[in-house]
This record gives sequence, C-alpha cells and structure tokens, in this order.
Amino acid sequence: MVCYLCEKKKDEGWGYYCSQCRRVKHLLNLYGDRVYEVLEHVLVRTEDKQTYKINEKVKADIDAKTYSLRSKKNGAVMVPKA
Ligand SMILES: [Zn+2]
Repeated sequence: MVCYLCEKKKDEGWGYYCSQCRRVKHLLNLYGDRVYEVLEHVLVRTEDKQTYKINEKVKADIDAKTYSLRSKKNGAVMVPKA
C-alpha cells in the first residue's frame, strides 16, 4: 500500500500514512499553522536568499582557512591530515 501523503510504499498496517508521515500529521495536530510557517521559512527559500546563505557559508570557510594559515605562519604545530 502507498502512503497518502508522501506517496511512497508504506509498511503494511493500520492507517493511510507511513510512520514518518503519521509523525508529521501528529506535529500538525500539535502545532497547527506553525508547522506551515516553519516549512515556508526554513525549507523554502528564494534564490537570492539561497545565494546569501551560500555566501555566508563560503565566507565562514574562508575565514577558517585564513585563521589556519595565520596560525601556521606564527609557528603553530601542523597536524598532518589522516
Ligand atoms: Zn508517507
């Protein structure tokens, strides 16, 4: 049988939903509109917001690298990568 929500094959048993979707349904019952709000704000991003997030992540990586290089220049012990 197929789950009514995710439309993937569900484990046999009681109800219309697979165990994961049953959990989602439960959260919807508990938190109502807050669930939709969180999904929209966290999972659904416009492209410019995605670019912003990506840039933020890249910036953090560059900062970490710069720090690492600076540490080496100042005589920090280099740990070989495994
Ligand atoms: Zn499902």
